[in-house]
Amino acid sequence: MTGFDFDVAIIGGGPAGSTIASYLARAGISCAVFESALFPRPHVGESLVPATTPVLSEIGALELVDGAGFPKKYGAAWTSEVSDIPSAGFGGLHSGLGAAEIEFSERDQEGVAQDYTYHVDRGKFDQLLLQHASSMGAKVFEGTRIRRVEFSEDAATVRFPVGKQEVGVRARMVVDASGRDTFLGRQLGVKVPDPVFKQYAIHTWFDGLDRTALAENERKADYIFIHFLPITDTWVWQIPITEDITSVGVVTQKKYFAGSGADRERFFWDTVGSRPELRTALESARRVRPFVSEGDYSYGMKEITGDRFVMIGDAARFVDPIFSSGVSVALNSARIAAEDIVSAVGNDDFGKSAFSRFEGKIRRGVRNWYEFISIYYRLNILFTAFVQDPRYRLDVLKMLQGDVYDDEEPRALSAMRDVVKTVEENPDHLWHGHLGELKAPTAAPLF
Ligand SMILES: Cc1cc2nc3c(=O)[nH]c(=O)nc-3n(C[C@H](O)[C@H](O)[C@H](O)COP(=O)(O)OP(=O)(O)OC[C@H]3O[C@@H](n4cnc5c(N)ncnc54)[C@H](O)[C@@H]3O)c2cc1C
Repeated sequence: MTGFDFDVAIIGGGPAGSTIASYLARAGISCAVFESALFPRPHVGESLVPATTPVLSEIGALELVDGAGFPKKYGAAWTSEVSDIPSAGFGGLHSGLGAAEIEFSERDQEGVAQDYTYHVDRGKFDQLLLQHASSMGAKVFEGTRIRRVEFSEDAATVRFPVGKQEVGVRARMVVDASGRDTFLGRQLGVKVPDPVFKQYAIHTWFDGLDRTALAENERKADYIFIHFLPITDTWVWQIPITEDITSVGVVTQKKYFAGSGADRERFFWDTVGSRPELRTALESARRVRPFVSEGDYSYGMKEITGDRFVMIGDAARFVDPIFSSGVSVALNSARIAAEDIVSAVGNDDFGKSAFSRFEGKIRRGVRNWYEFISIYYRLNILFTAFVQDPRYRLDVLKMLQGDVYDDEEPRALSAMRDVVKTVEENPDHLWHGHLGELKAPTAAPLF
């Protein structure tokens, strides 16, 4: 490896960066992770989907995660105060079109031998994965913020400050796993804000929240709960972090927050107050973390690969947290990119075309998520109708499990798109008045 410090330099040690580091180190490829924070550090994104399981298993981390005591997640539930929506020809398993629930055990998944995934304290989870990457042989540098990458014909050099000096580390290629900092996307000027989604989230942790307060079934209190609020495009997550601690977040349109004139805290309470039983339950619990807000998190990249680079996880794209897809995309994009990088190292060819399989697969998967999310926001009662309809339930469940990387588009997606079109075109349709404001494009943007 003459003249190189490492084969691969990885920017960011979140789930995407640590996972690709584990894959590469296990394949005997020398790699280094540069992480700006000192772990553990808090992070949003606490509820996993089952498509993370095969990846954790492949990198040898599943037992560690399983043994760490994170709450097990067996399913998901959606609650709503609306109960008098006409079914418009859909329905079947549950009453009340605004409410639904699924269990992962209803559908077998390739490479998944357990009927649950996890809710995680991201401080602990991300640290565990980063330490695991180190134990696999990756070099990990925490407290090291990459300032720029210099590309030359035969190398990619990452540069970072050490004291008053700037140091360069020379690698054959870089992986950008810098999350929503989108380090390389910004350096290269290829980041594009999403044309549709301009969401805003505010979240915190509560101690002693009664998780059954809005649950139909007490046994399922440790599912993730999505509580629909009677405000357009607005919902609340309820995610168990420990037996006592629950993460709660409001997701809404940024313009509602900007136009409210309220500070974050008042906006949170006013918004959850639109479901009075939810507000009462939260007021009976004790908040144990400051409110944190997240905005401007929906974007894509014109390029996610190029000569001597790939972008993975949030560094490549993020849309919206409604289906808890982020960590799953981070892990699966690391898995798919690692395959191409192993071949690139073997062939000593780091040109853009060496990463085309990754690019095709990940863009297809993320496009499926994008369409699913768009349709959800355009007509969210359609989502619960499809979940409740035996004709589509397993197909929707497959997406909710995170299995979106097949060559073909999921059948339920095209069926949902057709229904949205019918409802949009017919002002007399029973569901027309339930259309959301975020208008789904007929296809995801071309990035
Ligand atoms: C409101 C909201 C709710 C969400 N809820 C969920 C959920 O329930 N489930 C889910 O799966 N996902 C959720 N997500 C998405 C999830 O947070 C992300 O998809 C996930 O964290 C992506 O992992 P990553 O490794 O790509 O990026 P990150 O986890 O953000 O890791 C990136 C790392 O890179 C480091 N870094 C950044 N810049 C540099 C630099 N220049 N040099 C060195 N290091 C750098 C950062 O410190 C960070 O540790 C949510 C997102 C939002 C906005």
